[in-house]
Formats: sequence, C-alpha cells, structure tokens
Amino acid sequence: MTYIHQTILKLEHTSPAQTEFYQAVEEVLDSLQPILETSEKYKRHAIIERIVEPERQIMFRVPWVDDQGEIQVNKGYRIEFNSALGPYKGGLRFHPSVNASIIKFLGFEQVFKNALTGLPIGGGKGGANFNPKGKSDSEIMRFCQSFMNELYRHIGPTTDVPAGDIGVGAREIGYMFGQYKRLTANYDGVFTGKSLLWGGSLARKEATGYGCVYFAQYMLEAKGDTLAGKTCLVSGSGNVAIYTIEKLYQLGARPVTCSDSSGTIYHAEGINLDTLKHLKEVRKVRLDKYLTSHPEAKFIPVSEYPEDGHAVWRISGDLAFPCATQNELLAADATTLINNGCIAVSEGANMPSSQEAVDHFLDAKICYGPGKAANAGGVSVSQLEMAQNASMQTWSFEEVDRKLKVIMSRIYKSASETAEEFGEPHNLVLGANIAGFRRVADAMIEQGVV
Ligand code: NAP
Repeated sequence: MTYIHQTILKLEHTSPAQTEFYQAVEEVLDSLQPILETSEKYKRHAIIERIVEPERQIMFRVPWVDDQGEIQVNKGYRIEFNSALGPYKGGLRFHPSVNASIIKFLGFEQVFKNALTGLPIGGGKGGANFNPKGKSDSEIMRFCQSFMNELYRHIGPTTDVPAGDIGVGAREIGYMFGQYKRLTANYDGVFTGKSLLWGGSLARKEATGYGCVYFAQYMLEAKGDTLAGKTCLVSGSGNVAIYTIEKLYQLGARPVTCSDSSGTIYHAEGINLDTLKHLKEVRKVRLDKYLTSHPEAKFIPVSEYPEDGHAVWRISGDLAFPCATQNELLAADATTLINNGCIAVSEGANMPSSQEAVDHFLDAKICYGPGKAANAGGVSVSQLEMAQNASMQTWSFEEVDRKLKVIMSRIYKSASETAEEFGEPHNLVLGANIAGFRRVADAMIEQGVV
C-alpha cells in the first residue's frame, strides 16, 4: 500500500464520513507523488500526516429567533487549517449543505491556493448550515450576530481573517463585522470583502471572476491563442459567475450560459449582463425570470438536466467556466465538452469538476486551470484589502485590477513552470499542487514540530 493510500485510510478512520474532504486530499496527494519520491525530507518531517490535519477545528451552536418568534438552531464551523505562511485566511459559506466535510475540503484547498499566490496568508474556511434564501433582512442580521457571538473570540487581523463565499456577501459581512466590533471594541481589518464605505477594497467583488478569466487568458496565450471571439459556457449566477461574464465581455468573448440551483439559461446571442445583475444582485430572484426580458433565450429547469451531469456542459462552446459549486461537472460532462471541441476549462468554483472529469481533461490535454489556481484572484485581492487597511491607504480600482492581473500571471507561471520541472508541462493540477505544497511544507519544516 502506498504512503498516500495509507494516509487516506487513516483519515477515513479518524475523520469518518467526510467524502468531499477525502476527494480533495486524494487529488492533492496523488499529484505530490513525484516530489515525495525525490525529497525525502517531507516524509522525515511527517509533513503529509501534519498537513492533512487542521491545526484547529471549531464547531459551535448558532441559536437565533426567526420572525415568528420561534427558536432556530444551526451549526457553525471555523476550520483553522494551516498558519505556516500567515494568518488563517478563507471565506465563510452559509448554505444548507454545509457540514464538516465540506468545510474541511474547502479549508484544505485554501491552504494550497493561498500558498500559490505567493502572499503571506495561511488557510482556513468556515460557515454554517444556514439557508439564507427566503429569510428576511432581520433574520439574516440575527443569525449573523449569533454566529459572531462565538466566532469573534477565534478571529483577529493577525490570527484569522474570514471573507465571504456562497451565501455570504457584503450584507452578511456588514452584520458580522458590526457584532465583532460591539463585542471586542476593536475597529480592525478582521474581515475582507467589506463594504467600500468602511474599509473594503475596490475590485474585491470582481476579483475572483476577473482572475479566473485572466487565468484562462494566460493558458490560451501559452498556446498562441486569445479569448477574442470565443463562445464561453459559464455555470452559476452568483458573485464569481457574474464577474467572470463581465470580464469575458471585456476581453471580446461571448458568454452564452449561466445557471442557479433552479436551472440553466442558454442565450445564444450572449448573456445580457445588465439583466443578470439586476435579477441576482438587486431583485435576488430565480433565473427563469431572465426570459421576461429575453424571450428568445432558453431556460432548462433542473428536472430536464441529463441524469449523468449538468445542462450547461451539454451546450457547445470553446471554453468552460464552472463558477457555482463543488462536483457540478461530472465525467460525462467532460466527455461532451471535449467532443464538442472545448479547448479550455478555468474553474471559478472550488472543486467543481469530479476527479474523473479532471482525468478526462488531462488525458485530452486541453488547457485545464484547477480552482486552486484559477480562482485565487479573490483571496489575493482580499490580501490586498488587508494591506490597504494596515497601511491606511485606498488604492484605485485600476491599481487593484493591475495588481490582480500580475498575481494571476505569477500563479500561472508558478503552476506551469513547476509542471514542466516535473516532466508534465500540460498538467497544471500537478504544477499548482506541488508549487503550493512546497511553500507551505518548507515553512512548516523551518517552524519545527508545532
Ligand atoms: P454565490 O454568490 O453565493 O453564488 C453561488 C452560485 O452557485 C449561485 O448561482 C447558486 O445558485 C449556485 N449554487 C450554489 N450551490 C449550488 C448547488 N448545490 N447546486 C446548483 N447551484 C448552486 O457564491 P460565489 O461567491 O459566487 O461562489 C461560487 C463558487 O466560487 C464557490 O465554489 C466558492 O467556494 C467559489 N469561490 C468564491 C470566491 C469568492 O470570492 N466569492 C473565491 C474563490 C472561490 P442559487 O442561488 O440558486 O443557490
């Protein structure tokens, strides 16, 4: 039995029923094989055994009172995974599917993603199995305040700096920051993704989507191609998807799809960005409402999705941008994309492609940008927000966007050069994982057994 399989078996024993977490660990460890074989120091320092175990896992009760006066109880999490490179950094997710496995997989991915940015940030993730959909503003506020009543004692500008993720945007961050300030009497940069009125950074909202498109641009450039004139498939219609679509238009491409948990919109002329922003950022309604102003578009409800995958990936396009959630692109979707001539996949979401789908992309040698590289723009601009807060400066949108572009180029370079170094130049999964791992692991060795 290999060292890697032993590690997974041990995890199944010590952390039972955490499927998504094993999936993320297996993907990373598989691609670390070449470096583990050539550098025996990592084994000697038990880096694998240590890196798969979070430094600290906080789980807590979140009681709150709904508008009917009924008491509700949710489960809150903060997984402080690794602080070798800096304070724990990673978002909070509010979604009914949240459990320890989901938060651990996200935290684990975050460690390598943050390392890959080259910035001084460790990795963590948190959230709650709270469903913000259909809740009133007051209910959201009471939930956020209760969540923070526990979380505040674990976070701080030099210890752990959360941000948003699915279900957590500027409104939720505002309520959580307000409660943190009340409990601690500190006005400090304990969150990123803050409102521009009180310490947020310009271009943070756009950063993950823009960064994901820049990453695709760098992958194409390496093949002498560009995004101009390309038809693009995008899933999701939240923060990452909307700003992926915006940047695609800016670079001359034509995004023709978007989706939410009710279905998919296919608009052959190109998704109307103003309509999409209005529906999702202002009215916060389901996607079928898109047809009211664009009857020529098509809405495919989830009930009509193929059994073995997602409707978005069954439409013909040159590039694919999965920007909704984990495991939303399966093996049959990958096969269809490849057969339809897709030349590149750039992941805005975290672990959106199943392991089989990733294997198909790598076997077909199409450009494949794994989430931990392609969606690192969000956390990178979060770190720029921390830098602005610490130095009491505010940078312009253009300046932040310029820095984001440089960081994404550095991430692409680091992943592709490392892939080349290990003899698999097209394999950015291997390149990203090894490049991120090396930085964290070497820092862990220098800091001793802690
Ligand atoms: P968001 O604004 O809440 O949007 C999420 C989108 O995905 C919505 O359209 C949502 O549809 C859809 N979605 C979520 N869960 C789904 C499910 N189980 N089935 C089908 N659709 C689902 O979240 P976001 O910030 O854009 O995050 C999207 C992805 O990017 C996540 O994987 C997140 O971890 C990753 N990411 C985000 C950032 C960031 O800066 N925000 C940074 C790096 C990575 P409904 O509204 O119908 O649920």
